[in-house]
Amino acid sequence: MTTARTRTDGVLVDRYGRVARDLRVSLTDKCNLRCTYCMPAEGLPWLAGPQLLDDDEIIRLIRVAVQRLGITEVRFTGGEPLIRPGLVRIVSAVAALEPRPRISLTTNGIGLDRLAPALRTAGLDRVNVSLDTLDPARFAELTRRNRHADVLAGLAGAVEAGLTPVKVNTVLMRGINDDEAPDLLRFALEHGYELRFIEQMPLDAQHGWDRGTMVTAEEILAALNAAFTLTPDPTERGAAPAETWLVDGGPARVGVIGSVTRPFCGDCDRTRLTADGQVRACLFATEESDLRGALRAGADDAELADRWRTAMWGKRAGHGIDDPSFLQPARPMSAIGG
Ligand code: SAM
Ligand code: SF4
Repeated sequence: MTTARTRTDGVLVDRYGRVARDLRVSLTDKCNLRCTYCMPAEGLPWLAGPQLLDDDEIIRLIRVAVQRLGITEVRFTGGEPLIRPGLVRIVSAVAALEPRPRISLTTNGIGLDRLAPALRTAGLDRVNVSLDTLDPARFAELTRRNRHADVLAGLAGAVEAGLTPVKVNTVLMRGINDDEAPDLLRFALEHGYELRFIEQMPLDAQHGWDRGTMVTAEEILAALNAAFTLTPDPTERGAAPAETWLVDGGPARVGVIGSVTRPFCGDCDRTRLTADGQVRACLFATEESDLRGALRAGADDAELADRWRTAMWGKRAGHGIDDPSFLQPARPMSAIGG
């Protein structure tokens, strides 16, 4: 019965009736920053060349997802997706698909000022740029690289190229940048960026996450409410991970992604493909399904689609961070694709 249902409607449905429409594709596990909540200073053992899907393999799997599995939104991420040499070509091939999915990119912004026009021409619709602080010295501490100015240039370049609305992702850490919430929002309002705070999650390679010191959605909202008037955003939230509020009556908005304290797993519509061709039903999944092996062994599109459906059918109801039995996945965030 299970199989009949997944095969009849074709889409990526799971046992709980959730349908995945949003595909996150990691293009590389490498990065030019070393954010402390993501990677150790020395980096990680990177995937070797042959382990990575090549550009054509990525394009093929996205085509299968869009044309056979009902994916309507493709987001490229990593690691740092801007360092993948074939990025513009991949975006352009995905934009040529029928039906055309919406295409976005999550990036640390370094080099985006140079790449934004070509990405826009290739068909990229919009970007999320990660920025955790307005202070260059703090940025250097937090990311272990002195690249703050490059990120600001990337943000400006994205707007200039029309990759809008530009969203800014911020992770606050206690005693490090948690005093900056109102300033970051002021900065975003001034530049027309839409800011969203993300609760820190247990996905760092060093396993340094601590629930007790994590800055919670409630604390973020309290800090923002002290400086602005936030009112609930009347727009339908749907499957969006961010809860949003109007700032001082709107139309500007701010979002909070309370993955840990306000989980939204019941409405999740995401499926993930890693740079080495593994399907993950969830950021926190401990199981993966190998599409690269099947693809290289000669599987046709129908078989790849079937494998993807089977992988999603097994998606768990929730991430279980609060369960005593919770185990952090072996892959860190940078190798899954955030
Ligand atoms: N390198 C790109 C970037 O930084 O935007 C894309 C990949 S990064 C893994 C995607 C997003 O995940 C970023 O906004 C980053 O801040 C966030 N992130 C990384 N580690 C995290 C963690 N442990 N908890 C919450 N968010 C995290
Ligand atoms: Fe790189 Fe993004 Fe991880 Fe920072 S959060 S180290 S920019 S992958």
